[in-house]
Order: sequence, then C-alpha cells, then structure tokens
Amino acid sequence: MKVRCITLGAFQVNAYLLEDPATGHCAVVDTGEGPALAEGLVKMDPRPDLRAILLTHAHFDHAGGLADVQREYPEAVTYLPTLERELFEMLPRQGSMMFGMPEFDRPCGRIDRYVADGDEIGVGEWRFKFLSTPGHTPGQGCYYDDKYVFSGDTLFAGSIGRTDFPLSDPDLMWASLRRLLELPGHLIVCSGHGPATTLDEELRGNPFLDYLRRERGLPSFSSDMAPGPRWG
Ligand SMILES: [Zn+2]
Repeated sequence: MKVRCITLGAFQVNAYLLEDPATGHCAVVDTGEGPALAEGLVKMDPRPDLRAILLTHAHFDHAGGLADVQREYPEAVTYLPTLERELFEMLPRQGSMMFGMPEFDRPCGRIDRYVADGDEIGVGEWRFKFLSTPGHTPGQGCYYDDKYVFSGDTLFAGSIGRTDFPLSDPDLMWASLRRLLELPGHLIVCSGHGPATTLDEELRGNPFLDYLRRERGLPSFSSDMAPGPRWG
C-alpha cells in the first residue's frame, strides 16, 4: 500500500491518500475541513481512482470536506464509526454550537456504511480493521492493517487527543489508548495531526502513556517530563 500524507487547512489536519498498487484503487482517511482535499485530488495526474472515504471521527476539521470530495467522487463509499453519527449530523452547526466558530459549519455529506469495533473494510485487494477508540469523541476510531494504523485524534507523536471538548470522555480515552497500544508495536502511526510515529515509540516516550508503562512494568519517567501540547 502506498500512503501519502496531505496536511490541510486552519487546523493542519492530516488526511491520507492510500493506494493499493495491485488494483490502483485508492482511499482517503479523513477529508480536512473544506474543499482543499477535493481540489487537490482532481488536480493530481493521474487522478486517483478513489473508491473509499474512511472517517476517523466527525469533528469538522476531519469530516467537513466530505461533501466536497463526494461531489468529485460520487461513487466512493464513505465509512463512519457508528457511534459518531450524532456528532456527524451536527456538522451544519457544529462549528458555531460546539466551538464558537460559525465559519466552520459544514454540510454533512452522505454516509454509506457505519463501522463498529472489529469490522473489516476492503479497498482493492487490501483489508483494514476498525478499532473503536472513543474518548476524544463518542465514536472516534482507528483503521489499521499489518503495517499502518490511522489513529485520527486518539494518538499523536508525543501527545494524545483532547478530552475537554463537548461529548469527550477522558475515562473512555484512557481505556481506548490501552487497547490501541495492544496492537503490534511496529505499526506506523499516521495521526490526525503532526508527524508519523510508531506504537513502540509512543509506548516508550509519550508522556501521556506513563500509566501504561507502569501497568506493564516498563521504565516510567513522568516525574521529570511534563505532558506536552495536545491536539484537536
Ligand atoms: Zn477531533
């Protein structure tokens, strides 16, 4: 699988363009907040053969560009975590109601399939699994195969997603990170913001994961390391 990171918009969201070399079928993970991804895709030469749109969660900075991508690719199948439905349906007023930013109110676009923990998704010949990791939002989830995990706003290099937003739940977030870090450590973490990392790297050094290091009897260093910034 070929993976290209495309960083978009005011919140520097990472969308990912994935291509199955066997079939040429492509997918995107998240869309950014506006039309930039759609405009970028149609200018590429050759134009990607987009078959699927995988949304990690329904915050406007990740899902606000869905309708724009669907206008260019009406046949692409869009996946959303089941538990994100309520937040997704708020998109037309999410910016104004939840964040005081009416300029980021967005149309919903169309959801074709809802995914739940353990579901499998195919793009071309290649398969992803969906891991539900609620906490940042009620249904935020990660898509992974045997090499990559697309973690949305659950886990970042050196940080984790914020849990102080409306509908966030910190207790769920700690449990979700515990489950995420049970996946193979070599997986490359493609996050919703910031650089790529690996699960092993984060288990070793992410200041927010000290509770997991303690649980596993790994060296812990919370006392001399302050938590870094968290992302949206
Ligand atoms: Zn978010």
